[in-house]
Amino acid sequence: MPFRTAEASREALACLTFDLDTLGLDMFPNGPLSPDQSQILEDLSYATIVPRIVEFLADLRVPATFFVIGRHAERYAATLRGLIAGGHEVANHTMTHPRDFAALAPDAIRTEIAACHATLARVTGRGPAGFRAPGYTINRFVLGALSDLGYSYDASLVPSWSYSMLKLASQRLFNRPDYPIVPQELRCAFAPHVPFRVDAARPFHLHRDGALMEIPVSTVPVLQWPLASIPLMMAARKTKLLEWSVYRTRPFLSISLHDYEFTGTDDVRDLPRGLFVSRYFRRTLDDRLDQMRRMVAAARRFYRFVTLSGVAAAFGPAPALAAAAR
Ligand SMILES: [Zn+2]
Repeated sequence: MPFRTAEASREALACLTFDLDTLGLDMFPNGPLSPDQSQILEDLSYATIVPRIVEFLADLRVPATFFVIGRHAERYAATLRGLIAGGHEVANHTMTHPRDFAALAPDAIRTEIAACHATLARVTGRGPAGFRAPGYTINRFVLGALSDLGYSYDASLVPSWSYSMLKLASQRLFNRPDYPIVPQELRCAFAPHVPFRVDAARPFHLHRDGALMEIPVSTVPVLQWPLASIPLMMAARKTKLLEWSVYRTRPFLSISLHDYEFTGTDDVRDLPRGLFVSRYFRRTLDDRLDQMRRMVAAARRFYRFVTLSGVAAAFGPAPALAAAAR
């Protein structure tokens, strides 16, 4: 098969991930929302949308990994514990979800990761083993902090030239001090598309002795359109195309979703909606759920779905470090 690598001898694994960004102030720090409205959206996400996602996963009988912003963890502790009890994984998505996370000073990057780690460990009784950066952008300081904390994996990398170019263009066109966009290095497009070990000093390169595992978000071959957010919702309409271009060629699959793909217009009546949200709302929630259900059901014929921790274990993290991350 054309895109197979040495890793293909392993069982083909897939994972679904959900970044719980909640559409509140974490998403739009200077947007149209008041703090009260932001709180309504956070409550909506954890009280309504997360249970909806859990039901979606139960119907398909697949586990998933949920990336949680640390500052939400206390308020929604019961929901997080419920996710873990249900066989899902809760992982680190920074303490406050800064939009310019990868551009922060190394100390601030470390604090964001460590504070979320400590909070999730306290609230759930279990320190997370994995991390995803806001905006998917990483660098050696991010991976360095994760290595020092004994993390099993990072799941931020989007190995894509088209997504990198899009981010670069967005930065040139839309960047504002109050709405920073941090581009990713174009050379990430050459990183492996299967989970690989990294050394923190060289984030996009396979390093056989690296203690940390990088678990990339999957992309469509050639165009490298990521299976995440808006591009994913466009790709999800073409189940057959996905099957032939991705499922039959990629020996590993990681799909990146959020809570907002599972949000409908009825959920946010009377609240201001940004462009980002209305993009999704042009299609009804039922339509989106149906498409995502067909996308995952088709993938299940080619892959076994596990959590990202399951992926990291299958691809072999160093046992001592895996224990330290627990
Ligand atoms: Zn996020």
